[in-house]
Amino acid sequence: MGDKFLTPYEGSMAAADRCSLCQEPAVIRGREQAERWCASHLITRLEDRVRGHIRESSLISPGDHVAVALSGGKDSTALLLILTTLLPEWKDVSISAITVDEGIAGYREETIESAVRLTRQLGIRHSVLSFTDLFGKDLDTLLRKNGSRERACSVCGVLRRRALSEAALRIGGTRVATGHNLDDEAQSVLMNILRGDLLWLVQDSSSGEPDCFIPRIKPLARVTEKEVVAYLFVRDSYRELPECPYAGSALRSEIRTMLGDLEHRHPGTREAIIRSQEKIRKQVPVRSSSEHIRSCRRCGALSNGEICQACRLLDSLGS
Ligand code: SF4
Repeated sequence: MGDKFLTPYEGSMAAADRCSLCQEPAVIRGREQAERWCASHLITRLEDRVRGHIRESSLISPGDHVAVALSGGKDSTALLLILTTLLPEWKDVSISAITVDEGIAGYREETIESAVRLTRQLGIRHSVLSFTDLFGKDLDTLLRKNGSRERACSVCGVLRRRALSEAALRIGGTRVATGHNLDDEAQSVLMNILRGDLLWLVQDSSSGEPDCFIPRIKPLARVTEKEVVAYLFVRDSYRELPECPYAGSALRSEIRTMLGDLEHRHPGTREAIIRSQEKIRKQVPVRSSSEHIRSCRRCGALSNGEICQACRLLDSLGS
């Protein structure tokens, strides 16, 4: 990581360690070279940025019921805190939290506990849907077959997307909000390029096209991972949680390291990657008709083909 936290201290503090906006002790460097923020300006700047992104990209509209995908980890915790702070500003919008329990021993139990605590504290309606309820097996069991562990994140990703849509449908959600931050988004762009997944590169899941799918929105997509962590610290909501045991094997973790290094040596790399994706999206039209969408013959979920991606995946895992 290029940036580091500044430890606030009283007394003979250098100007460089004072907030650029109010001269209180700084807790974090901003993205501009000379920019520093104190705790209260960090909170307002981040909330402003999320509010601005939601408005500019029309992510939330009057009448929406936003289902916040709350894993209990840092990003989704920050997302729920920020959205509940902004909620009184929006007309006729409601928020609920949905959690998917993939069934990852030694990891998911603690994050679910954290999600339950947070929603109780905020008074937000919360529902949990497990892979076992939906697919008959948890992720650990699905990955027991030889060679499956290497595919953990792609299996988890496909099934979790399905579970989130299902959980949102069950509570009448009109948007699914996920906690992807700027770092995640830049990593995803590179991953899609490396895998040759051009459709994922140009598809914008927040557009709600085809209109039979619930749009997925990413309100934190303009906030860096470091800013998310700092926000949680200053709101006294940061919790150290275990790491997913499958995370190390993911291509994403290699890209995260590489991108962190590039960002350190060439600040602004992540934003440049996101801007490139936005330019590509404007140039490349994506087929958005619901004409080819039908119900999966196996599970009844919306699908591009006779059998949906989740059912094909479960077949390949011998389930
Ligand atoms: Fe799922 Fe991979 Fe994330 Fe673990 S690291 S929760 S397996 S996507």
